[in-house]
Amino acid sequence: MLTQQRIVALEEHFAIPAISSRFEGYYKPRPHQPYAKLDDLGNQRIADMNVAGVDVQVLSHVQPSTQAFDAESAVPLAREANDRLYEACRAHPDRFAGFAALPTADPRASADELERCVLKLGFKGAMVSGLTQNAFLDEKRFWPIFERAEALDVPIYLHPAIPHQAVVDAWFKDYTNKAGDYPVLMGAAWGFAAETATAAMRLIISGIFERHPRLKIILGHMGETIPFHLPRIDRALEHQLGKSGFADIFRERFWITTSGLFSTPALLCSMMELGPERILFSVDYPYGSNEEGVTWLKGAPISPADKVKIFHANADALLKLTAT
Ligand code: ZN
Repeated sequence: MLTQQRIVALEEHFAIPAISSRFEGYYKPRPHQPYAKLDDLGNQRIADMNVAGVDVQVLSHVQPSTQAFDAESAVPLAREANDRLYEACRAHPDRFAGFAALPTADPRASADELERCVLKLGFKGAMVSGLTQNAFLDEKRFWPIFERAEALDVPIYLHPAIPHQAVVDAWFKDYTNKAGDYPVLMGAAWGFAAETATAAMRLIISGIFERHPRLKIILGHMGETIPFHLPRIDRALEHQLGKSGFADIFRERFWITTSGLFSTPALLCSMMELGPERILFSVDYPYGSNEEGVTWLKGAPISPADKVKIFHANADALLKLTAT
């Protein structure tokens, strides 16, 4: 059952067992996690989309994806994940699109895999998380990935992951879940946003947007708190770095999604800071509910024209999707 309003969601995850079965530590699949839904790239997923009226999912491997591995393992695993995703997109071309998994431990191979995925498999960009073997992606050795994304004119979606172990130990380890094996502030409650916002801010400060001025970055979870803090970040960096323009770069080169944060106050703040053209609908399936996300945005106190932009028009333009 499709609704009249076309709906595109672009932080929607899948997993292949060859990768998820190798996750270790805090990433080890846990009993309550929806791995059956992550593994499904067919009927169950499409049924879940249809119930809510989601027309298109832009799919990405669940994080930390192939960034959990060294280069030797990551390169073939990324190819396997991307080939599996390509099969799903080919089987359901009007329902699925793809973001590539990249073996970031080998930046040159990542750039080449991104190019293969975009030019040969028809993917719309890539999804990465902030850290690769404890290094942030603003280190210059990773820049070939961003250079290739700019050349291909596709965005990089910067997704949350668990912070560096030293940060977890210093900030988060004291309060755990009932099983005592997961620090509750480390993940979705706060650590994910802190880690991803830090990764995004480091990219801007690194000067990569001066070198690659057409680079496009997507952040989920309503911009990982950056829209709320934008004037304070901008002022502090200008004062302390002697360099202005943080907010300008964020407004011009970043897009944000509603994934996992169906909050009207957060939406209105983001619209006021960035404009409705920079906000894209997403769910974070299967961690988020398609129905909850769609129902929330349909009922949000914004104009019908802005809902069209956020539900699909901004994604169509950014990802060059063909409307069905
Ligand atoms: Zn996600």
